[in-house]
Amino acid sequence: MNHEPDIAIVGAGAAGIGAARRLAESGLSTLIVDALPRVGGRAWTRDVAGMKLDLGCEWLHSAERNPWTRLAEAGGFAVQRDMPGWRRQYRDLGFSAAEQDAARAEFAAWSARLIAAPPASDCAADALDREGQWTAYLQAMSGFISGDELERISARDYAAYDMAASDLNWRLPGGYGALIAAHLPTTATLSLATPVQAISLAGRRVALHTPSGTIRARAAILTVSTNVLAGGTIALPAALDPWRDAAARLPLGSNEKLFLEIVGAHPFAAETRVLGDPRDATTGTYAIRPFGWPVVMCYLGGAGARAVATAGHEAAFARAIDQLAALFGADVRKSLRPLAASDWARTPSIAGAYSHALPGQAAARGVLAQPFEGRLFFAGEATHRTDFSTAHGAYESGVRAAEEAIRALAEPAR
Ligand SMILES: Cc1cc2nc3c(=O)[nH]c(=O)nc-3n(C[C@H](O)[C@H](O)[C@H](O)COP(=O)(O)OP(=O)(O)OC[C@H]3O[C@@H](n4cnc5c(N)ncnc54)[C@H](O)[C@@H]3O)c2cc1C
Repeated sequence: MNHEPDIAIVGAGAAGIGAARRLAESGLSTLIVDALPRVGGRAWTRDVAGMKLDLGCEWLHSAERNPWTRLAEAGGFAVQRDMPGWRRQYRDLGFSAAEQDAARAEFAAWSARLIAAPPASDCAADALDREGQWTAYLQAMSGFISGDELERISARDYAAYDMAASDLNWRLPGGYGALIAAHLPTTATLSLATPVQAISLAGRRVALHTPSGTIRARAAILTVSTNVLAGGTIALPAALDPWRDAAARLPLGSNEKLFLEIVGAHPFAAETRVLGDPRDATTGTYAIRPFGWPVVMCYLGGAGARAVATAGHEAAFARAIDQLAALFGADVRKSLRPLAASDWARTPSIAGAYSHALPGQAAARGVLAQPFEGRLFFAGEATHRTDFSTAHGAYESGVRAAEEAIRALAEPAR
C-alpha cells in the first residue's frame, strides 16, 4: 500500500470512482480504500447464472443527463431505453384501472402541493390530503422513493430532487453495478478490505488509521454514507462534529431487493410489474422477468424493507411469495424459489439505502459538502443538492470534491 499519497479517497463507490477519475487527470497520486472486499459500494451487480442482478442501483435516472449514460455508451455497455409495460399493474390484478388512476392522482396532487404550497412544517406528511383514500399507497411510494415514511421526509428536499429530475429512466442489461465498477481508473492505487477506523489531523496532513497501517495523505476525500459518518464506526476529531451532525440529519432510509427464480410452468409475462397490495404501506413492488430473465425482483422500502433486517430473509421471501400467490393464484408457489437478496442495512460500511433529509433539514446537504481546512473533502450521494440518492449524483459529487482538493493542493502552503 502507498502510505503517503497526495490524496486518499475513502470509499470505492460511485462517488469515490468519480473522484478518482477526476484526479487521474491531475497528476496527483491517489490511493482509494474501501472496507468491502469489492469495488462499487451500493452499486453491486451479481452474476447469477448469466443474469446480471443489481442488488443496489439499477436505473439510470435522469438518463439523458446522467454521466453514467455517457460512460456506458463510450465503453460499449448496452443501454435499454424503454420501460415496457412497467407503468401499470399487470392485468389490473388486485388493483383495478379506476383504483390505479385514483391512487396516482392522489400521489400527483400530493407532489404538486409539495412544490406549489409546501407545508410550513416542511414535513412531507403534512401535504397529504387528510380525506385521501390512498395514504397507505403514498406511504409505500415514499418507502420506494425515499426509504422512509412521509413523517420523516423534508418536503423541500423531496421537491428539490423532483424538480431537477427528468422522466427518463433507462436500464443496463449488463448491470449498473458492473458499469460503475468497470470505471475505476487504473491510475489509482486500490486497497480493498481496508476499513478506516479513525481519522486524525497530523500536522498539515490527514492520517487515516486502518488495521493494515496508517495512510498519511496531503488531503482526503470522504465518500462514506451518512449512516456510517454519523454512526461512529470511524473515530473523527471533534472539529468534524458539524459534518457528523449534518450526516445525522440526512439519514439513509431502508430499501432491499429480493430475487425469486421462476422454475417450470408459470403465468409470468416478461417485463411486467405488479404492486403487491396497494392498501398496505409495507408492500413489495414486483418487477417480473426483467430483460426476459426467469426472475421476479421484489423491491421493498421503508417499513417493508426494515422487516427484512428484523425478521430475516426467509420470512421476507415467504411474504413475497404470499403476495404473488394472492395475485396470480396459489399455483405460483411451485414456480418460485429464493435466489438472491440484498442486506444493505446490515452491511456495516453501508448501513442503509440512500439519504433523505429529515423535516427542516434540507440545508444539511450544503453543510455536509463543505471542505474542512483545505485537506478534508466530502462527497457521496448525500452531498448532492438535487441528485442525492442516486449513483449519478454520487459520481458528480466525487468530481466536485476532487476539483476542490486539486485547487486546495495547488495553493501555496500558508
Ligand atoms: C436497493 C437500492 C436501490 C437503488 N437504486 C438506485 C437506482 O436505481 N438508481 C440510482 O441512481 N441509484 C440507486 N440507488 C442509490 C445508489 O446506489 C447510491 O446513491 C450510490 O451508489 C451511492 O454511492 P456513494 O459512492 O455515495 O456511496 P457508497 O456506494 O456507499 O460508497 C461508499 C463506500 O465507502 C465504503 N466505506 C464505508 N465506511 C468505510 C470505512 N470506514 N473505511 C473504508 N471504506 C468505507 C463503503 O464500503 C462503500 O463502498 C439504490 C440504492 C439501493 C441500496
